[in-house]
Amino acid sequence: MNLDDLIALDIHTHAEEPCCGPRDDGYDEFQAGMAKYFKNPAGAEGMLPTVQDTANYFRERRIGCVIFPVDSERETGFRRYSNEEVARIAAENSDIMLPFASIDPAKGRAGAREARRLVREFGVRGFKFHPTLQGFYPNDRAAYPLYEAIEEEGAITLFHTGQTGVGAGMRGGMNMRLKYSNPMYLDDVAADFPDMKIIAAHPSFPWQEEALSVATHKPNVYIDMSGWSPKYFPPILVQYANTLLKHKMLFGSDWPAITPDRWLSDFEKTEIREEVRPLILKENARRLLAL
Ligand SMILES: [Zn+2]
Repeated sequence: MNLDDLIALDIHTHAEEPCCGPRDDGYDEFQAGMAKYFKNPAGAEGMLPTVQDTANYFRERRIGCVIFPVDSERETGFRRYSNEEVARIAAENSDIMLPFASIDPAKGRAGAREARRLVREFGVRGFKFHPTLQGFYPNDRAAYPLYEAIEEEGAITLFHTGQTGVGAGMRGGMNMRLKYSNPMYLDDVAADFPDMKIIAAHPSFPWQEEALSVATHKPNVYIDMSGWSPKYFPPILVQYANTLLKHKMLFGSDWPAITPDRWLSDFEKTEIREEVRPLILKENARRLLAL
């Protein structure tokens, strides 16, 4: 990937379609609930993009993207999308796409072993965690063998934080617990793994200030601005993006829930300073991913 040929790098896109077989029972309802929350008609009709569709879409727009599945087999019972498959398609589209992977920390040492293999053999650059969807506190010691492997392999972590569309409006919230996604738990992870880069995803509502505090205090913590239209960014997020954290904020859409077209057009209308925009859209990611 040559960033100079691209207008931006989207650090947060999802591979939502299971491969190697039909969707699991209940998966369509789960996706439809999320589509309703994000007002995303494609998801509601079961028309989610494949990884290759995603690459085509981003190439047309000259926007690079980091893509990942989410392994939540233990908590939801849905089979995960193969990390190897995502990495293979990303490699075929390496001008535009970088693969992250996802391993449920509940997989313990087997997960740590998988992480090393994915980095060494499949060029995986980072790992996505979703504490609410995976049902764990990020500072749970059970997750540490996996973090150790990721840190040693020089890969990056990205954690969902704050409110989620997953299970929103569904009976009992589909048993999803919001508490796990408080970004303050990342402060422990950042202290215990000081050489591992951590991205706290999204505006973190209702814990925006916690996320800003952790990212200000820990040099290895970054924030991605995905999952929300910039129209709704809290003023304090914009204030920090313009000042203290201008080298640590990253553009992300949360595709396919939010399209980069929508995100970028709403971003134009925010109070983010002119000189900070290129940092958020591309330059901070260039440094973080050493591109
Ligand atoms: Zn996400």
